[in-house]
Amino acid sequence: MREYSKDEILSLLNAKGRDILSLLSSAESLRSTDKITYSKNVFLPLTDICRNECGYCTFKKTPEDKNARILMNEDKIFNILREADKYGCKEALFTFGEHADETKEVKTALEDAGFHNMVDYLYFICDETLNTTGLLPHSNPGVLKKKELKMLKEVNVSMGLMLETTSKRLMNTIAHEKSPGKDPDLRIKTIEDAGKLKIPFTTGLLIGIGETIEERAESLLEIKRLNDKYGHIQEIIIQNFKPKAGIPMELWKEPSLMEMVKIVAVTRLLFPDAGVQVPPNLNKQNAQVFLLAGADDWGGISPITKDYVNPEAPWPELEDLKIMTEQIGFILEERLPVYEKFISPQFLSDKIINKLETNFFNI
Ligand code: SF4
Repeated sequence: MREYSKDEILSLLNAKGRDILSLLSSAESLRSTDKITYSKNVFLPLTDICRNECGYCTFKKTPEDKNARILMNEDKIFNILREADKYGCKEALFTFGEHADETKEVKTALEDAGFHNMVDYLYFICDETLNTTGLLPHSNPGVLKKKELKMLKEVNVSMGLMLETTSKRLMNTIAHEKSPGKDPDLRIKTIEDAGKLKIPFTTGLLIGIGETIEERAESLLEIKRLNDKYGHIQEIIIQNFKPKAGIPMELWKEPSLMEMVKIVAVTRLLFPDAGVQVPPNLNKQNAQVFLLAGADDWGGISPITKDYVNPEAPWPELEDLKIMTEQIGFILEERLPVYEKFISPQFLSDKIINKLETNFFNI
């Protein structure tokens, strides 16, 4: 596999004119199939409370907000999961604000339900999901300790944490100045610990939150370093910042289409064997262009729940996604929330392997 230096990556991210076409052609040449995948999922935000206050967030609420979800209870979760089962969803995506249990209201709700903290609650919910539904848990609970990751590996088919950026500089800007959990060192440690534990992992970058082109190159190289060392990165999400009414970064510009196209293509060059995803609900007009730049996955698409992190941007209907994919000559195919090459006892717990054998196929 061709190695790229930081200078080469920078020059590709700064490409102009014919050099952009040549970048796209190099990225496209690495595509081994015409399949574009998606995971049929259900999205369960267990709480809206979060210790961070990112300048671009529309998800977090404070306990004083009368619309805040302090803790989604077990009955509600399993009603939604049963509905998702009926729709044939395979992935149960559990996510919530980081270290929410540092907040008194969440701690009390957890104790009332018989749990010490969010990770204990998440473990219980994932375990019950495996025991009582046809869905496979994929959790995205923010920065975690290694022992928490180890515990959750038992009941998760894969896990995720957006690196977003390696830029420490952004910790002093509107994007991350009130978000201790966005310290890149903490996020790198979580992704590295997941690698040591052999957890199939999804990560990615958030583009357009004030990072420089050089910092984008450094962020991609950091994910590559981790993947070269541990081989656990199954998918890289390239997510574009979107200005939204009411957020601190409301008046910021979103990244241009060309910036996005170049970073998607460079991601494909650096990670020829991983899924590269650009969320279609944030790119209604441009989504097809990213497939031409080397993206090969639409991510989780839910037929029954909205994208709580981007509530203003509904997911496309599966039929529309199929049309969008086929219009430019690709084939839409459903995948599991774990990529095939990670389906082995090296990466998955016995419980998950048994579930896959029973519900999905003979391994
Ligand atoms: S973006 Fe995520 S980590 Fe940041 S405040 Fe919102 S919920 Fe918390």
